[in-house]
Amino acid sequence: MTEQQWDSAGFETRAIHAGYEPDEMTGAVIPPIYATSTYKQNGVGGMRGGYEYSRSANPTRTALEGALAAVERGAHGFAFASGLAAEDTIIRALCRPGDHVVLPNDAYGGTYRLFDKVAKVWGLDHTPAVVADPEAVRAAIEPGRTKLVWVETPTNPLLNVADIEALAAVAHEGGALLVVDNTFASPYLQQPLTLGADIVVHSTTKYVGGHSDVVGGAVVVNDAEVAEKIGFHQNSMGAVPGPFDCFLTHRGLKTLAVRMERHCDNAEKIVEFLDGHPAVAEVIYPGLAAHPGHEVAKKQMKRFGGIISFRVAAGEQAALDVCAKAQVFTLGESLGGVESLIEHPGRMTHASVAGTELEVPADLVRLSVGIETVEDLIADLERALG
Ligand SMILES: *Cc1c(COP(=O)(O)O)cnc(C)c1O
Repeated sequence: MTEQQWDSAGFETRAIHAGYEPDEMTGAVIPPIYATSTYKQNGVGGMRGGYEYSRSANPTRTALEGALAAVERGAHGFAFASGLAAEDTIIRALCRPGDHVVLPNDAYGGTYRLFDKVAKVWGLDHTPAVVADPEAVRAAIEPGRTKLVWVETPTNPLLNVADIEALAAVAHEGGALLVVDNTFASPYLQQPLTLGADIVVHSTTKYVGGHSDVVGGAVVVNDAEVAEKIGFHQNSMGAVPGPFDCFLTHRGLKTLAVRMERHCDNAEKIVEFLDGHPAVAEVIYPGLAAHPGHEVAKKQMKRFGGIISFRVAAGEQAALDVCAKAQVFTLGESLGGVESLIEHPGRMTHASVAGTELEVPADLVRLSVGIETVEDLIADLERALG
């Protein structure tokens, strides 16, 4: 089938088939790992099959990039060596010294560091804004100077939800492009380009890869001119993934839909268990009617995801004890894999923002709910909270 024909197919079909046709020579159903840096050419200046050097393009990567574009409903997909490499490439491709960007006031720590410690030195200014509030974003935009409005939704670890459609309108009014980091929702639960966003960025390390065995990033866009700039910088900056990393990421993507359904099923049951547990002061999950972003999440997400945060009633030490006592939940950073993880954001993922406006409550615990037997996960939390 052609790319156009996949357009009308369902998400799962696109995730499994788009981007690759069985290999001409062997009929291989899965894209082979093309472990080659260079390609024999037909003659001087005469490329064969569109490949000349693997920084510029490699068939294993091409297959992944086609699939990434298809699942995000975009025209152009680009794979990178990490989520941050993808972000850096967006910055260099679309911003110049003297420009300005609006960032979430609770951005992923690595994203904030990239803007504040790397891009700022290079001359790119940023203003943090509460992206759950479109008016706050409007106020932060400097017309003429703001090139990007950068949004994560839901955010980490407080799971704030931003209205992508409303923010696209605000960004475009201000002459800026809307970038959505779709790592937490994954393309299965939310497709920002269909809601008006201009650029989707991913850490494919998380749900897309899904097995905690590979680091990667992705950018997906519709606009041909933006795509041309991203592609030029992808090749010029060279932060590309190798063929084995592309193979692993692509293999993960094929099962994203079934994994996300189970992540969400398990998360909903765990939320039910935690909500009302005497040792838990508050459960933070966009699927709860009391969550301030619930209505927006319902509008733009298929389900509410696999990340849950909760506050432990007895305070910081009790929260640390829960993390230490859990056994099925592995104590660790990152998220989105098949295995459940537990962490204390204040001391782990968000330790570097202590004392800033990004500081998170000390009694907060974050769960990345995996796809194990949910009764085992609940029994583990019961034990850890007891
Ligand atoms: C992990 C993460 C990133 C960074 O991606 P890497 O693959 O670790 O470079 C960016 N955004 C979000 C929301 C993340 O969770």
